[in-house]
Amino acid sequence: MGSEYEGRSAAEVVAGMKERFASGKTRIFQWRVAQLKAIVRMIDEKEDEIAAAIYEDLAKSRTEACLQEIALAKDACLFTLKKLKHWVKPQKVSTSILTFPSTAQIVPEPFGVILIISAWNYPFYGQRHPCGDNVNVGKVAMESLAFGSSTQPCYATNDILVAVVIQTCFVAYIMDFGTYQYYFSSPVLSIEPVIGAIAAGNTVVLKPSEVAPSTSSFFAKVLPKYVDNSCIRVLEGSASETSELLEQKWDKIMYTGNPRVARIVMAAAAKHLTPVILELGGKCPLIVDSNIDLKVAAKRIVVGKWGSNSGQACIAPDYIITTKSFAAKLVDALKIALQKFYGKDPLQSTDLSRIVNIRHFARLRNLLEDEKVSGKIVYGGLQDEKDLKIAPTILLDVPCDALMMEEEIFGPLLPIVTVDDLGQSFDIINSKEKPLAAYLFTRDQRLEENFVKTVSAGGMLINDTILQFTNRHLPFGGVGESGMGFYHGKFSFDAFSHKKAVLRRCFIVEIPMRYPPYTPQKQKV
Ligand code: NAD
Repeated sequence: MGSEYEGRSAAEVVAGMKERFASGKTRIFQWRVAQLKAIVRMIDEKEDEIAAAIYEDLAKSRTEACLQEIALAKDACLFTLKKLKHWVKPQKVSTSILTFPSTAQIVPEPFGVILIISAWNYPFYGQRHPCGDNVNVGKVAMESLAFGSSTQPCYATNDILVAVVIQTCFVAYIMDFGTYQYYFSSPVLSIEPVIGAIAAGNTVVLKPSEVAPSTSSFFAKVLPKYVDNSCIRVLEGSASETSELLEQKWDKIMYTGNPRVARIVMAAAAKHLTPVILELGGKCPLIVDSNIDLKVAAKRIVVGKWGSNSGQACIAPDYIITTKSFAAKLVDALKIALQKFYGKDPLQSTDLSRIVNIRHFARLRNLLEDEKVSGKIVYGGLQDEKDLKIAPTILLDVPCDALMMEEEIFGPLLPIVTVDDLGQSFDIINSKEKPLAAYLFTRDQRLEENFVKTVSAGGMLINDTILQFTNRHLPFGGVGESGMGFYHGKFSFDAFSHKKAVLRRCFIVEIPMRYPPYTPQKQKV
């Protein structure tokens, strides 16, 4: 027997959503705005519950949740609300001499009924001050970045230059958007695609991940209290329920998760010729040159790897490539940063998320038990199975055929591969599937240019980690095995809008050559 959603089958739910879409309700601009405002209200009013759900699922620190989850969701919504009236407008484009006189427009229209299947690792995207008070998220971000905070060691306490750069960004941001509230903002795994789908005028079904049960249940219970539940639904479930949903005919499907399930999603979508967006992962490489500010680089690498859900992030650096001669210095700098951030006993640190479940814990332990990495641990390695915690672990001189170099790590292990010359790193990266993100730390402009030219990745960032996804003017998505399609900012609106080509003519000006009979005389022209 199939699953039931308030007494209705998946097929009936989808049929209902199609009817609602056909009624034209979701196309109405004011309806879209009302739903987006309702989501902002939900985030404001239910911040405590969201933070608690994320904590239950991942034991994620409040500061990290603050910087990486809820604030991003809220910002995505506010940014969309601010820009939507421009995005929905038809875009006038040039015409050709062949259609003279005419006008041409690109008219964005909603696809119809959207299915969003999301993953567990960033189950929401949010905002919460470490001390528990409601505060301006951007301010917290600025404070912890530029001046340090009591619970989260700062990036740049002693680095005046970095502080100046951050202040400059801060001022630029205020000038751009009127408030620094949005400094650390952009998209979401569950809610950001929903925002894009609503903004574009679709009806939408969200299927959150069962692997983050508290956040999934939050969405199912709370979202319907704020938004129009006849057009925006949350359906919970695991693989079997998702398979049932995938049997239905949707107008677009967005899936976030691993490439194996992505293939199942794509095959199901192909049966109905439904377009898909696939947001996947992969092994994100990080190349480290020796000519850098090592202290700053180490902090940025550590926060990008372990400050992102303990490495359970699709764009967390997966492995490092550096030269044999520089590796020891790099390891020392990483150790210093790790100790400063997470203390001498990182398993006790409240700033480190836990591994999501025992299955992933066992998978990571298996990577460490691979005999090809035996004796390679130079930092960390401690585990606490009861609390599902693994300490930040660095492995040096890991061979390219080790298990952890063959699959996405998605956890707190960081292998370092050493080469004689950094030029070799491009061959290593290009011998693997295309990653979602690629990173380089260098002051060498030629190396930087080669990196951008030679490495294919969903996105790249030079001299920092993970921040590329906070820029809403950049598309976020993968290439090859790391996914297809992209979203964030206006790209989210575009992802859920068909671009309809509309050409208009009047009844004057005729070109006889167009019409049969195609006499030899016409062919000469
Ligand atoms: P997951 O286990 O939460 O699965 C994702 C979704 O797939 C869930 O909603 C789940 O119900 C559904 N699912 C699972 N098995 C299924 C099946 N057999 N048929 C149909 N649906 C099924 O998440 P995960 O896959 O463990 O997520 C981790 C992966 O996701 C990593 O590879 C990571 O890099 C990637 N990821 C990518 C992004 C991105 O934005 N590109 C973001 C987060 C995670």
